[in-house]
Amino acid sequence: MKREEFLHFIKEQRSDADMALIERAYDFAETAHQGQLRKSGAPYFEHPQATAYKLAGLRLDDAAIAAGLLHDVPEDTNRTLDEVRQQFGKEVGFLVEGVTKLGQLKYRGIQRYLENLRRMFVAMAQDIRVIVIKFADRIHNLETLSALPPDKRRRIALESLEIYAPIANRLGIGDIKGQIEDLAFPYVYPEEYDWLIDKVSVTRRQKEKYVQIFSGEIEHILTEHHIPYISVHGRAKHLYSLYKKLLRHNRDLSQIYDLVALRIIVDNVSHCYETLGIIHKFCPPLKGRIKDYIAQPKPNGYQSLHTTVFTDAGEIVEMQIRTAGMHEEAEYGIAAHWHYKETPGASMSKERYVWVQQLAKMQKEIQDEEQYLESLKIDIFQTRIFVFTPRGDVIDMPEDATPIDFAYHIHTDIGHKCSGAKVNDQLVPLDTRLKSGDVVEVMVDKHRQGPNSDWLNIVKTHSAKRHVQAWLNKRNDQDRKKLLDKK
Ligand code: MN
Repeated sequence: MKREEFLHFIKEQRSDADMALIERAYDFAETAHQGQLRKSGAPYFEHPQATAYKLAGLRLDDAAIAAGLLHDVPEDTNRTLDEVRQQFGKEVGFLVEGVTKLGQLKYRGIQRYLENLRRMFVAMAQDIRVIVIKFADRIHNLETLSALPPDKRRRIALESLEIYAPIANRLGIGDIKGQIEDLAFPYVYPEEYDWLIDKVSVTRRQKEKYVQIFSGEIEHILTEHHIPYISVHGRAKHLYSLYKKLLRHNRDLSQIYDLVALRIIVDNVSHCYETLGIIHKFCPPLKGRIKDYIAQPKPNGYQSLHTTVFTDAGEIVEMQIRTAGMHEEAEYGIAAHWHYKETPGASMSKERYVWVQQLAKMQKEIQDEEQYLESLKIDIFQTRIFVFTPRGDVIDMPEDATPIDFAYHIHTDIGHKCSGAKVNDQLVPLDTRLKSGDVVEVMVDKHRQGPNSDWLNIVKTHSAKRHVQAWLNKRNDQDRKKLLDKK
């Protein structure tokens, strides 16, 4: 993108933007990254530029846009954080420092995930903009992922799906959550992605066409009843959340009513309920599908009225009715509160105060609620398989788990002494990938010393890896001692 085009977009998004600051940050970062290339061969500066562009699209303030442009300067160029601070002041310097400090968030099992989450919250407690810059940075990296080698692609995409997306969801930034998931999805589950596209594309196109016609009818009805609506439009469901929903419904597309949902935005809460009533007069609702998330918001703050109706044309359509404010919250979550310019040191604005309260509440939840942690575990290990012991006990394991993981899950000693396995009564190699429904029987050799070191590359679960590693460390120590004794 050309400099002019970028600056034009900023002005378009924020007419009151401090263009002098943004232009200075632009030129400073472009010069600092001069000569550097991305893996794709494109000039490096395209990356911070795209990051800042997204931040402007989210209507973040001047300091955040400038920090987006400068976010990789201290880490990847000769220019230091001190220079950034000198040139652009405390606030921009603080944001750049925050993004740099946050560094890479890596997915390494549940413990690490929770650590990352805490780091995120600490950074957020200081300034939510740091997190939003990090999200914009990650989205652009995902958009340009195809330039990286396959193993790296998958790792980055997996991290995005398992750390970044749940956190965006937790913060109620639905727009970012959806983008991250849809970008990562084809890299993490390529076959499932192809299957989904193949399955839904025709149906989705038909549904989109129909919803467009139907939205005209709804606009007409609302006008007749003097409901001042702001917009009525169809919205195709994000692919990854569609995929997860399909898995919950035995992959049966006819069970999914919000493939393309109709979103109605009105000016106030009482018009939300009035709209619902009017629509039900014309289109009978499906039983049990009316949800009042206005009176009872979702845990992440989401508010809307949902209903699913039969239309004259014999179609089934899901509708979401909400106010403009609720819509803003749903798309931008707590980031919505940063659309207003804040001067550092100024007294806390009302928006910020509300947000700080929300944050305190979330942190408390994380510390207090075992239940929340449990739900997190289910969230991140989205792809689990269920296998059976010969006695019929169900064991829940991650996808691609092996008989060795299974053995360690039963008991550490069974893991150490595991010498073979039968899956569905057939002898199989120990690195076989288990599938849901498999009956797994582990064979134990009492005389076996312990695991082989190559098991480290075979096992999938964190706990099996830990047990194998612990045993190997212990053996190495003993060997060393023996050697010393001999000497
Ligand atoms: Mn970056």
